[in-house]
Amino acid sequence: MLQFVSMEEAFGEIEERAGKRLISTAQVPLEDAVGRILAAPAVAKLSIPPFNNSARDGVVLSETGLAAAKSGTPIALAGELRAGDSVEVANSMRGDAARIMTGAPVPAWGESIVMIENLDLNDDGTVLINQALEVGAWIRPQGSDIAEGSVILKPGRRIIPEHVQALASSGVVELVVHTKPRVGLCSTGEELVDVKSGPPGSGQIYDSNRPFMTAMMRSFGCDVVVNEHVGDTLDEMVAFLNRAMDASLDLVISSGAVSMGSYDFVKPALEAVGAEIVFHKVTQKPGKPLLFAILPNGTLYFGLPGNPVSTVVNCRFYVHYALSVMQQKPLETPLKLRLENDIEKPVGLAVFLKARCVRGKGGAIVRALEGQESFQTMPLLEMNGWIVLSEHVGSMQAGDMVNFYPSNPHGVPDIF
Ligand code: AMP
Ligand code: MG
Repeated sequence: MLQFVSMEEAFGEIEERAGKRLISTAQVPLEDAVGRILAAPAVAKLSIPPFNNSARDGVVLSETGLAAAKSGTPIALAGELRAGDSVEVANSMRGDAARIMTGAPVPAWGESIVMIENLDLNDDGTVLINQALEVGAWIRPQGSDIAEGSVILKPGRRIIPEHVQALASSGVVELVVHTKPRVGLCSTGEELVDVKSGPPGSGQIYDSNRPFMTAMMRSFGCDVVVNEHVGDTLDEMVAFLNRAMDASLDLVISSGAVSMGSYDFVKPALEAVGAEIVFHKVTQKPGKPLLFAILPNGTLYFGLPGNPVSTVVNCRFYVHYALSVMQQKPLETPLKLRLENDIEKPVGLAVFLKARCVRGKGGAIVRALEGQESFQTMPLLEMNGWIVLSEHVGSMQAGDMVNFYPSNPHGVPDIF
């Protein structure tokens, strides 16, 4: 067992173990893939557009039609092409001009399309063009968006609704994705009262970690299969671990009871069931007593210290990292942002600071918030991400560039 590992060593150990425990995969209909991680390349079955089609309502002109248009001569219309007409219908239409609607196939002779706003339709069935013309105008060429047979989405990508557009239009109706990771969790502590059965009595507090962990794991795309509160005894903890192993889970997390107190039973319980403790304690603040273990059935186990902010940090960074590795998701890279205020910190300790990124005059800047103690949850309502400083750096000054990770690891859209 390793003790007092650095943040970097902790990530390294997790990567090594999680890399051997990949989440299983399944083929699912496109709509059901949203939120899942792609496990096999998505290959376009069709080109987009599948045929040359019109980008505007207007008139399609042949080369001869274009020449006539340039000299201001009215051109006879051969007919009308609508969206849904076949390419064969378009090609069988003979002439130098035809009415055409957005999305309709362009006949093989079509050189250019003129928008309806830039022409006059005459009563005698001819058209007069009022505009300088370009070859290829308003024609969407076949395959100009997506080429048939090409890999359009690589494994490791998390599917979002926008992907569904491109996938559906190119005929990808099913995707191979990682199934929802099966997760078990528990909170420990005799002082805790379930949010559904409060209010807390004297000396008691609400259990906030359990609803948090449930919400966070679901936001990471997991199925929370085992969800319990466990009292501060070795027997109860051992019983929980046995139930967790029976449920064939991918990952288990617990909060609390992982420090050095007399009622900190997580480590003894893990040892009692024969788990391998990979590391205990990371040189970081908050969340130093973090424990990472492998249960005898191979399931990954995270023992998160119980202070609410420690639980948030360790879930957001280490548990999320493990789940990413298990789904072969590319690793997160931080934003480099300019710091608004000074941060005091010693070398030799990594810190995760509740932070808020805001628009400054010269671009985005980030501020470490007041209230960094690990019991202080109020700043969680104000923050939109974390400043992460490794143990290798010391104090930082306003104006320095720092690593910023959004609260939501799925991206940056909600940081401003
Ligand atoms: P522990 O890690 O069990 O020593 O707990 C550290 C601190 O976090 C103590 O003040 C606990 O009361 C508090 N705590 C532990 N678990 C929870 C929880 N599930 N919800 C809210 N606070 C907790
Ligand atoms: Mg406790």
